[in-house]
Amino acid sequence: MSELHFDVVGCDGPKAYFGRLDRERIAHAYLFTGAPGVGKKSFARRLAQSLLCEAPKSGVLGYDGTCASCRLFAGSESARHPDFLEHTGVLKIGDSDAAMGFYEGEELTARDLVRQLSMQSYSGGLRVLLLGDIDFATHHAANALLKFFEEPPRGVILLLTSSTPGRLLVTIRSRLIELRFAALAQAQVREILLRMGYDDERAALGASLGQGSVTRAIAALGDDDASLRAQVAAWFFAVVEGRTPAEGWASRDALDEGLEVLKSLVRDWTALSAVSSEASLLAVDYGSELRALPAIATPDAFAILSKLDDAQRLARTNVSPQMVSEIVRMALTGAALTRSRETRSSRT
Ligand SMILES: [Zn+2]
Repeated sequence: MSELHFDVVGCDGPKAYFGRLDRERIAHAYLFTGAPGVGKKSFARRLAQSLLCEAPKSGVLGYDGTCASCRLFAGSESARHPDFLEHTGVLKIGDSDAAMGFYEGEELTARDLVRQLSMQSYSGGLRVLLLGDIDFATHHAANALLKFFEEPPRGVILLLTSSTPGRLLVTIRSRLIELRFAALAQAQVREILLRMGYDDERAALGASLGQGSVTRAIAALGDDDASLRAQVAAWFFAVVEGRTPAEGWASRDALDEGLEVLKSLVRDWTALSAVSSEASLLAVDYGSELRALPAIATPDAFAILSKLDDAQRLARTNVSPQMVSEIVRMALTGAALTRSRETRSSRT
C-alpha cells in the first residue's frame, strides 16, 4: 500500500475532526468558517483530493499523490478533476435553460450546479463540490440551491467556505456541518509564505504582520500605499489624533480585514501605553507612529477593543460597511476625548 500524505499547514481542528471519521460517516455538506487566509480553501481542495484518490484507505484524509485521480489535482490551484467542481465567490442564479458547461469559472451559476450535480460521477465514485468564499448574489440564487442542500444527490459532497457565515441564509446554514478554522501560528504562516516562494526575510516579516492569516500577511507585504493596511492605518492615526481622515477604507470586501488591522494597532497602542515603549509590537511597521501617540488609559483601550469585536460581528451581517466604520470612529474619538479631558484636568 502506498504511503498517504495530507499536505496542509495548520488547520489542526479540522484535521483532527476528519482524522477521526471513517469514509462511511462523512456528511454530505460542510461549512468551513474562519478568518480569510487561514487555509479553509486549501484544506477543502486537499480533502477533495483525499476523497477522490484511488489509493485504498479506511479513513478520510490522505492521498498517494501518484494515482490517475491525484495527477489531475497536481500542479495548479484549480484542479481539473472531472468529479471535482470548484467555484469561488458570488454565485448568481443563472438562466433556467442555459447550455451546460463544466468549467465555466466565474460563469458557473446556481442552476448550472444543480444540473451538473444531478449527473453521474465520471469515475463511479464520489463527486465533490467546493464553493469557496460562498456569496449568493440574490436570495433567488440561494433558494435555487436550497433543495439541493436539503436533499443532495447520492455520492455528492459539498464543501463551502466563508469568513462571513452570518450572511448565509439560516435555512442553508442549518443544513451544513460547520467547522471553525483557527488562526495559523506565526511559524505556520512563515512556512506557507516560504512555500509560495517568498525569501526568508520577507516570509518572516509577513508572518509577523499576518496575525495568523496568509491573506493578511501577503497584503501587509504589499509595498504600495494603496494597500488596505496603509489605508486603514492612515485613517486610524488621523482619527486618534483628532484630524479628519482624508479617505475612508470601509468596503464590504475589506471590512473584516480592516478591522483586524485596527485591532492590532489598538493592541499595540495599549501595550506601549501600559507596559513600555519597548513592548513588542504586532504592527512593527507602524512602531514610530504608535510611539508618537499620547498614552491611552487601559479601560479606554479595552472599551475600544470590545467595540471592535462588536464591529467585527456586525461586519459578518448585512450592516453597511460605513455604519461599522462609523461605530469604530466614535469609539476611537471617545477615547481621544477622555484623554484630552485628563490632560486638561491634570494641568489645572
Ligand atoms: Zn491518489
